[in-house]
Amino acid sequence: MAENIIVLHDLRAPALAVPAAPEAPVGIISDALARPLHDLRISVTDRCNFRCVYCMPKEVFGKDYPYLPHGDLLSFEEITRVARLFVAHGVEKIRLTGGEPLLRKNLEHLVAMLRALPTPSGRPLDLTLTTNGSLLVRKAQALKDAGLDRVTVSLDALDDAVFKRMNDVDFAVGDVLAGIDAAHAAGLGPVKVNMVVKRGSNDDQIVPMARHFKGSPTTLRFIEYMDVGASNGWNMDEVVPSSEVVRRIDAELPLAPQAANYTGETAARWRYVDGGGEVGVISSVTGAFCKDCSRMRLSTEGKLYTCLFATRGHDLRALLRSGHDDLDIGAAIARLWQGRTDRYSETRTMNTARVDTGARKVEMSYIGG
Ligand code: SAM
Ligand code: SF4
Ligand code: SF4
Repeated sequence: MAENIIVLHDLRAPALAVPAAPEAPVGIISDALARPLHDLRISVTDRCNFRCVYCMPKEVFGKDYPYLPHGDLLSFEEITRVARLFVAHGVEKIRLTGGEPLLRKNLEHLVAMLRALPTPSGRPLDLTLTTNGSLLVRKAQALKDAGLDRVTVSLDALDDAVFKRMNDVDFAVGDVLAGIDAAHAAGLGPVKVNMVVKRGSNDDQIVPMARHFKGSPTTLRFIEYMDVGASNGWNMDEVVPSSEVVRRIDAELPLAPQAANYTGETAARWRYVDGGGEVGVISSVTGAFCKDCSRMRLSTEGKLYTCLFATRGHDLRALLRSGHDDLDIGAAIARLWQGRTDRYSETRTMNTARVDTGARKVEMSYIGG
């Protein structure tokens, strides 16, 4: 193995513990800080066809990088079984992610399997997907037909040269824009577009992106560059605070604050004063939203993470593959959530210091955003 390769899969995950007297799910559970479990993010692959500089930099994710072997991935049947157990605990929203989720073969089959899951409330599950958009032209219709509700597309620039520097694989903006159009045409709208802003790399694209999507059916959201994982060489100087993003847009396209759609909404919303729609800003660094965080993450190989910044996952696959029944596994999931105390973003400075001392955080491309 080449020297610059760091294996980023989480090797330290303990098996998820099964309680001695497992209890059946009642449709709602809360963690130790009284936050209900609502959302599940499922990573379906650790591979990606992009090498975004802030996520899978080429120096680390080179051609010899040891991705997970196929047998280590959860199968669609295993994912659906886990999702069913989460839904029984009150999860109403499932987002598929990765790596690049559309690289997982026949993903639409998984979408159809998840779509068929009944919820305790009888309300349909909210089923979405985050993608770099590169394969949407080919896949949008099949995903819609299988029952996907919406897609979020990541796009970091409108200028081709800037975008190609960001994705580092020479992928053209026009092809992502065509993917967004295909998603709208297939009925996967309203499409959200996420732009990660990295100072000195693509911050000159803030206003052009705002201008491009203003008045269109696509909602643009700006995300602060985060200190996820251990491979992107994160530095606070490269974070453009949301307040600055809003100021820079407002100077050219006047904005006014908009009320949140629901409690726990991660994006703060701003509307164009002239009625040209809205933009969102996600202050993942400067404005922690831990107090309403209702999200569990399932990695490609079946490890559960109670926080995006976790240094340790919990091995659910070991339970799935050792003959435990649904009651055991559901109760193990409940116990993990009920013991959850994570609030990394609220205590970031302290935690970032701790990471420097060796507790390595899990990669975004491994558990998804
Ligand atoms: N490949 C898909 C994509 O890019 O949309 C899905 C997975 S990607 C890990 C999910 C989201 O995480 C993307 O919107 C990406 O921009 C975001 N992301 C990755 N690394 C990030 C970082 N260091 N800070 C903020 N957002 C990040
Ligand atoms: Fe791939 Fe998405 Fe990470 Fe970019 S952000 S490298 S598209 S997983
Ligand atoms: Fe949730 Fe962890 Fe992010 Fe806080 S830091 S919002 S607990 S994922």
